[in-house]
Amino acid sequence: MVKTKYQRAILKLSGEALAGQNGFGIDPATVRSITQELKEVHQLGIEIAIVVGGGNIWRGSIGAEMGMDRAQADYMGMLATVMNALSLQDALENLDVPSRVQTSIEMRAVAEPYIRRKAIRHLQKGRVVIFAGGTGNPYFTTDTTAALRAAEIEADVILMAKNNVDGVYSADPKTDQTATKFENLTHLDVISKGLKVMDSTASSLSMDNNIPLVVFNLNVPGNIKRVVMGENIGTTVGNKKN
Ligand code: UDP
Repeated sequence: MVKTKYQRAILKLSGEALAGQNGFGIDPATVRSITQELKEVHQLGIEIAIVVGGGNIWRGSIGAEMGMDRAQADYMGMLATVMNALSLQDALENLDVPSRVQTSIEMRAVAEPYIRRKAIRHLQKGRVVIFAGGTGNPYFTTDTTAALRAAEIEADVILMAKNNVDGVYSADPKTDQTATKFENLTHLDVISKGLKVMDSTASSLSMDNNIPLVVFNLNVPGNIKRVVMGENIGTTVGNKKN
């Protein structure tokens, strides 16, 4: 078997990653190409769990800005992540990659409820586990879910897949020419410099539980594999600079 850097990884996919060119909703061709890459990574023998966002369909903060109750709008966001999870499962199944969706809010007709030990068992049996529904609580994000689940299942790393950005920069590289890319950062740097990697709750949880992240560009084919093989293609964030 090939030697990989990580044995058990959480891949954080934003909802936007599934939207393709449309920028909204689910683009089945885009979902297929992501799952094709996941299949290659799965074939390396790595245990993979996915935390998927919902921003391609709905964000609680937008509902709240339009006058909705924040918690109600957030529950809608959590439901959006379930749709994304089902689309990922469908595509994985078409590629004969075994998978299970677990939701933090019970909906037994469509998926299993989240049970930590069962999730770990699925991973050990070579199934890709897709965590849907976020943390199950309003006022949180799926970045925080990724940090929480990573701690719970003792993942070695969170792979933070970004759209068209190849790491963490000192400023927005699209608008600021002086922006420089960091190769390594600490969670504390991210929090104190206010860098846009994850929200602060997710960063603190990652710091307190010593969970490393790799921020990388999902839009370059083969990048998920490069990251798990340990190639330095993005920004690594941990408790120590390495
Ligand atoms: N959400 C929530 N609690 C969670 C995770 C998500 O309330 O634990 C809601 C929140 O409204 C958020 C939406 O679900 O805006 C979609 O999740 P997120 O914004 O993290 O998705 P992404 O930006 O990764 O697509």
